[in-house]
Amino acid sequence: MNASADPITDNPLLADTGLPRFDRIRPEHVEPALRRTLEAQRAAIAEAERVERPGIDWLARLERIHDEVRRVWGPVSHLNSVASTPPLRDAYNAALPLITEFNTELGQNKALYARFLELERSLPPDRAVERELVAQTLRDFRLGGVALDGRDRERFREIMQRLAALQAKFEQNLMDATDAFEHHETRADALAGLPEQILSRARARAAEKGVEGFVLTLDPPTYLAVMNHAEAPALRERYYEAWVTRASDRGPFAGKWDNGPLIGEILALRHESARLLGFRNYAELSLATKMAGSPDEVVAFLRDLARRSKRYAERDLAELTAHAGRKLEPWDVAYYSERLREQRFALSDDELRPYFPLPKVLAGLFALVERLFGITIAERPAEGTWHPTVAYYEIRRRDDGALIGGLYTDFYARPQKRGGAWMDTCFDRARLPALARDPVAYLVCNFNPPGDAPSLLTHDEVVTLFHEFGHTLHHLLTEVGYPSLAGINGVAWDAVELPSQFLENYAWRPEVLKSISGHYETGEPLPDETIRRLNGSRTFMEGLATVRQLEFALFDFLLHGGDEPAGLEQVYALLDDVRREVAVIRPPEYNRFPSTFSHIFGGGYAAGYYSYKWAEVLAADAFAAFEEEGVLDAETAGRFRKEILAVGGSRPALDAFVAFRGRPPELDALLRQSGMSEPAAA
Ligand SMILES: [Zn+2]
Repeated sequence: MNASADPITDNPLLADTGLPRFDRIRPEHVEPALRRTLEAQRAAIAEAERVERPGIDWLARLERIHDEVRRVWGPVSHLNSVASTPPLRDAYNAALPLITEFNTELGQNKALYARFLELERSLPPDRAVERELVAQTLRDFRLGGVALDGRDRERFREIMQRLAALQAKFEQNLMDATDAFEHHETRADALAGLPEQILSRARARAAEKGVEGFVLTLDPPTYLAVMNHAEAPALRERYYEAWVTRASDRGPFAGKWDNGPLIGEILALRHESARLLGFRNYAELSLATKMAGSPDEVVAFLRDLARRSKRYAERDLAELTAHAGRKLEPWDVAYYSERLREQRFALSDDELRPYFPLPKVLAGLFALVERLFGITIAERPAEGTWHPTVAYYEIRRRDDGALIGGLYTDFYARPQKRGGAWMDTCFDRARLPALARDPVAYLVCNFNPPGDAPSLLTHDEVVTLFHEFGHTLHHLLTEVGYPSLAGINGVAWDAVELPSQFLENYAWRPEVLKSISGHYETGEPLPDETIRRLNGSRTFMEGLATVRQLEFALFDFLLHGGDEPAGLEQVYALLDDVRREVAVIRPPEYNRFPSTFSHIFGGGYAAGYYSYKWAEVLAADAFAAFEEEGVLDAETAGRFRKEILAVGGSRPALDAFVAFRGRPPELDALLRQSGMSEPAAA
């Protein structure tokens, strides 16, 4: 490396070279590039504040400011997820406060807010996309508290800071309580049923600690393995109790990392912030960025689905009870469900994997979407990527070969790469004065790397790949020219999973399964009989799974929807009420589920957990349009592309859905897909 390299002139993050040169980005480039960029953009913002009559050009200029910050910071944040070496992580962490500060400043910028208000008044009615962009920007300004003055403004800022700290503390308590638990066992037969992978880790941990036998932890894979496979009821009960009392006043560490007091304070502060912004409660505030129209609509949706699914849940439980031959405790349900699943469908990952070599699955998936959406996907030499296994593809229009966008794939698990699977945006589409850019996506998974055999996927992983590819298409097939509304950007939170869950459906269709499968030794596609069993297993115990999701969703939404914030006593009372209404399995008195509900108390799902089911309804109903016309019907696919994928966030999600389907979303398709439309007789 050249020690005298200038951090500004020789900085790959500052060179606008088309695709980022990931291979040239060094940790020492991050902070100088970001400081230089933010400085320039602060100057551009100051200029924008002073503009006399803000118009369309002015709007485009602000979009370019966002784009410029993203162009520099995006690759850093991406590398931090996929090639997170300790020096890069340090550089990332050091630079993160600069970005946060910049965004906070922007969100609190009263002068800019005033210019946007002027622009809103002067925009002609036929400028629908610009009107939507301005409306969303003004909404976000208001939700950030920009319209508040004096004391209220100060109080709002205090609340936001306190909430951030409380939510982080909630997560840390939960993590510490999870990490603290250990189960030591000397006799192997007490652990009968557990997969070898879990046992060997437990053996290694015992050896590390210099004790005999096995030491099991409470991380999610171990917890799930115990609940699903441990033959000893006592072991399952011990794990159940430890899991549902984490970070609470009960269980093995009662009171040590108690999240209970945090819950009350979080709810009170959220309520106060919602009132300061002029909402009745936090549920109303949450819906300001969502497709659902009102709190009543969400509650009615959840209750309707609960009413319809409860008898299927009761049927599921009766089947399991009959299979077990005794009354089931909460820690027995998953175990007997797995046993019955094995008996009924005789499906194992080991049986399916050989049929799903990644290259075959990918070729089949590409052929499917090429046909549906009139595109071609072709691999191009990938220059300057972050890893030798990364590939790059160009997406073009089939009829005239015009370039649409690009796609990086990074499929294999390796050290220093975040777990899970996701789609992220590298470039957002832009068609602005002085800025034209095609969209580029990252598609990242954590599949087994190829060895002697190609990478072989489980069917779950195939579904995951289709899911993420649905997000990818949403991002790439956009026709919006404003980056803030292009692709997945600006799409209501409870609708953004529509394209991804929609595409998952294809991974279950027999004709698609035939074309994405091929035994890696013989080339044989998945046998019909296996496809039948696979599809049979799709709705297995779906009644129980549905009421469980509805219990969480209804509890979350009602909890944030009162005229007064709930205290801890009321939190438990409400949960009891919801369970009486929705659940079919009643947990023991010591269950402290709220203390572990990090989606809503730690993460961003407060009064938003319902979004999972909401988006499932949209996806199932959209797919039903294809089932009616034929799942490969070009006309239906064209309409889906035009009305849903192309418009991104430039049109309200409900309008986009209605334009595609010809009517608002209906529940029937999801009920059918979940096996809850036929009679529920046990
Ligand atoms: Zn998703």
